[in-house]
Amino acid sequence: MAAEVQSKMSDRNAVIVTGIPGVGKTTVITTAVDMVKEKHGEEVQVLNFGTAMFEVASKKGLVKHRDEMRKLPTATQRETQQMAGEAIAKRAESARVIVDTHTLIATPNGFLIGLPEWVIRAIKPKTIVLVEADPESIAMRRSDDPTRERDAQAVEEIDTHQQMCRAAAVAAATLTGATVRIIKNRQGQVEAAATQLYETLME
Ligand code: ATP
Ligand code: AMP
Ligand code: MG
Repeated sequence: MAAEVQSKMSDRNAVIVTGIPGVGKTTVITTAVDMVKEKHGEEVQVLNFGTAMFEVASKKGLVKHRDEMRKLPTATQRETQQMAGEAIAKRAESARVIVDTHTLIATPNGFLIGLPEWVIRAIKPKTIVLVEADPESIAMRRSDDPTRERDAQAVEEIDTHQQMCRAAAVAAATLTGATVRIIKNRQGQVEAAATQLYETLME
């Protein structure tokens, strides 16, 4: 293989961490980032896609709270997603980076792809991580978290959403050659999940 091609293929700094709302993405990411800092003295840049979208949407006066965004007309969500995606991709070019986001957003008009072609190609991740947990645990985490306005979903719907996310992650990986890693975030075992994310970051 030509050296140029080889260097392009290894030029992947980003790990995209996905999972349905309340599964524990942000919690697992924070713990894994602390592990990297502790063991290697290295900083990992965390880019939260929802925060980037919220900056765009709140400036336009479309929403007051991040949990309102998935209720906007899907055309507006797509437009905001594109603007946030461009900003994230630019920042993901350098250093070790985690993008905290979703593969499928549950909107009132069906699932919206979180990583459409123009987003995933721009970020070009090394790995797409799916953080998963038992649907019952996710329902409990959502209802116990007062900081967010999470949707109440039946356990069966949570299960379907997680299965659909697997399909969406594989589709996104197919476009970019990323690996797909499933990490179970079991109840009370954030450290175990974070250790797996740490391994992916350091690979
Ligand atoms: P969102 O997509 O809405 O941002 P998220 O996937 O980032 O959600 P978090 O905010 O990290 O989810 O976690 C949701 C709640 O679940 C928090 O209250 C967190 O403390 C709790 N939690 C996370 N992981 C675990 C775990 N392994 N066991 C018990 N509780 C957990
Ligand atoms: P989060 O804090 O990760 O739940 O993100 C807040 C909100 O941002 C989500 O509920 C979605 O409405 C939106 N969001 C996050 N990532 C994406 C994405 N990749 N595509 C579209 N919307 C997203
Ligand atoms: Mg989060």
